[in-house]
Amino acid sequence: MSLVGLNRGPRAHIGGEVRFGGRDLVTADEKDLRGVRGKDIAVVFQDALAALNPTQKVGDQVAEMIRTHRKVSTKQARQRARQLLGEVGIANPEQAARAYPHQLSGGMRQRVMIAIGLANDPAVLIADEPTTALDVTIQAQVLRLLKRLQSEHGTAIVLITHDLGVVAEVADRVAVMYAGRIIEQGTRDEVLFRPQHPYTMGLLGSVPRVDGPAVARLPAITGSPLTGVTRPAGCAFAPRCAFAHGPCRSAMPELVRRYGVEAHLDRCVLDAAGRDRARGALEVTAS
Ligand code: SF4
Repeated sequence: MSLVGLNRGPRAHIGGEVRFGGRDLVTADEKDLRGVRGKDIAVVFQDALAALNPTQKVGDQVAEMIRTHRKVSTKQARQRARQLLGEVGIANPEQAARAYPHQLSGGMRQRVMIAIGLANDPAVLIADEPTTALDVTIQAQVLRLLKRLQSEHGTAIVLITHDLGVVAEVADRVAVMYAGRIIEQGTRDEVLFRPQHPYTMGLLGSVPRVDGPAVARLPAITGSPLTGVTRPAGCAFAPRCAFAHGPCRSAMPELVRRYGVEAHLDRCVLDAAGRDRARGALEVTAS
């Protein structure tokens, strides 16, 4: 939401920078952002039924997005809309274009959302839990579609998900967030196979594994996520971290490289031995 300025308001606390094409989108005015949204950066929301207009045919909704940012006739926009519906794998795009959202299946609606996202060939597509509402077979189809579109259109995809299986399947780089901040960042393999932050270790340790030992109960991260706007002075994860000690509570650890790999960053003050102990204790057994 912050990347495209959808959560601005008197109660929002947004810090840092979002640099796109030399501009900082956090400080850009609404007029500038309207030019970026849907054109350079598009968003696919998780609930397609809520995001689509129930009173408008889906073909017209795709065409409207095209006409918002391009000077083309209604006829040209409708033609391109049908083409896009075909590109995202809808079998009969002519017929689908004339349907209202409630007349399509969940998987088809999500494909329509992706077609709207791609309408102006954006440089970045933010997909927010795009497969949460879908069953596993359709989920796999939508993920394959996103990967195909990424390679065909050259679009960078920022995929937001709680599902570590999805991360393992589609991500090249991973940023793990806790309490609104990135706490670990690196390549998929580095983060999944060599996690450095106890929160990431806890997440991975709580995933059921078909190749792991049989356990009566899966380990879980103790405590609850932070709520509200108040944050502890130091590491936000300290109230739930079994390895918290003095330095963790004095200042928020910076996101820096502490472990040997160049592009693998984390926000934890533990030294190498402490991290090995944490991995052992949290039963992180990625393979
Ligand atoms: S900085 Fe301290 S509290 Fe935070 S994750 Fe690392 S060990 Fe735990």
